[in-house]
Amino acid sequence: MNTASAIARDVRSGTRRATDVLEEFLSRIESYDSDVHAFNTVTAEAARAAAGTVDDAVAAGDDPGPLAGVPVAYKDNLCTRGVPTTCSSHMLEGWLPPYDATVVQAMSAAGAVMIGKTNLDEFAMGSSTEHSAFGPTRNPYDLARVPGGSSGGSAAAVASGFAPLALGSDTGGSIRQPASLCGIVGIKPTYGRVSRYGLIAFASSFDQIGPFAVDVADAALALGIISGPDPSDSTSIPATVPDFDAALSRGVEGLRVGVVSELTGTGRNGAVTGSRVAEDAAGEMLAGIDADVTQRVLEAADALAEAGAAVGRVSVPAVTYGLTAYYLIAPAEASSNLARYDGTRYGLRIDGADVEEMNRLTRRSGFGDEVKARIMLGTFALSAGYYDAYYGKAQRVRMLTRRDFDAAYAGYDVLLSPTSPCVAFRFGERADPMTMYRCDTCTIPSNLSGDPAISVPFGTGAADMPVGVQVMAPALGEETMLTVAAAIERSAPELPAPLLGEGSSRSAAA
Ligand code: GLN
Repeated sequence: MNTASAIARDVRSGTRRATDVLEEFLSRIESYDSDVHAFNTVTAEAARAAAGTVDDAVAAGDDPGPLAGVPVAYKDNLCTRGVPTTCSSHMLEGWLPPYDATVVQAMSAAGAVMIGKTNLDEFAMGSSTEHSAFGPTRNPYDLARVPGGSSGGSAAAVASGFAPLALGSDTGGSIRQPASLCGIVGIKPTYGRVSRYGLIAFASSFDQIGPFAVDVADAALALGIISGPDPSDSTSIPATVPDFDAALSRGVEGLRVGVVSELTGTGRNGAVTGSRVAEDAAGEMLAGIDADVTQRVLEAADALAEAGAAVGRVSVPAVTYGLTAYYLIAPAEASSNLARYDGTRYGLRIDGADVEEMNRLTRRSGFGDEVKARIMLGTFALSAGYYDAYYGKAQRVRMLTRRDFDAAYAGYDVLLSPTSPCVAFRFGERADPMTMYRCDTCTIPSNLSGDPAISVPFGTGAADMPVGVQVMAPALGEETMLTVAAAIERSAPELPAPLLGEGSSRSAAA
């Protein structure tokens, strides 16, 4: 397989040239990205130069690093020096960052080669990539369906074979949910594990950068490279970076795995059958989590039990309030973070009679509807007289979430749930905001608590679309999380390949 680990090994040993690897990926992008639209920008020329440098280093007997010659795609809200960074918004069209994000620097220093910048929901607000100002990204498993969001471009790029690795950002699920919908692995690290320097802010107390990869080993490799304290991000944690790779082969014997009752209910399309775990008494289940997805999660739980883990059901009551709390706190933070786009310093400016009019005209035409809705909602939630009722209350739910997770982790090493309540849906199917927001039900709790979580593919559900299982762990518990994720991966049913090109796209039949 064309994994990042295999590419780096071959390039370091001189059996493959970084330049040849790059051309393979570029030609796949050339053939299929007009269908998928994973990229806002393909940086082919800069990539050729970077790959050439890697090859020169190998020829000179130097080691270019653990990601030698590995093409990598960056979500277009990560700053890349001199390369357009748009957040898929007209607001930032034409803006060129004067510096690289810390994660971009770290990837380059490890020998990775930037291949392009990927599409997203505008300013990372959304769960389908339908809110990009530059048009949607399509799911490579079915071009009539969404890839998830907001990092839909990064997920689709990896699933389409346009790059073996990509980075995205996860504020309420934007790495894990698209990874799940596109049949790949995605990690949201512990808040503070990875520097946010150079990530364009959405909701700063939630935002985390993380990797997308075709398997758990590649995701762990990339996580190790981007993790670690950074003086440029005061919220980064001064913890040493563990050997994530070593965690992969540890085995789950004796580990305690809790299936979250509230997130594994039966949904609109039937009952879950046959699982040992399902037969236990369950807590209150949230509605709207589809049974085809839950079924897969319980199968993954059974496979872990088979492999020697102690699996049980656990109730984490506060997760039922997560969505409501997040959709107050995140817009509140966004309303403040996005105040900087006023036509003065970044990107778009529409001139007016005076500064105020210039600000107004710029913001009116620069932002799309979803972004405007969030700014208004957030401003309202923070305004005098409403602050306690909305923002203050939401912060208390955040505390409750922390408390309930702590209680659950007293009895379990990791928690299991679906990543997304449903498989990839069709364009327009979740047009009303509440329905769209419900996509984040299972992912948001870990953003509220700041804990790490990963999505691992586990077979398919409705319409033969990929299903992702979410493994959650306590803060800085990435190693145990990866141990369990690797075990799930080992027992996962094989996924069909994405049907791109060769006249075989499922959308042809749709
Ligand atoms: N879908 C969520 C939202 O719209 C999460 C987005 C994200 O994680 N960036 O806010």
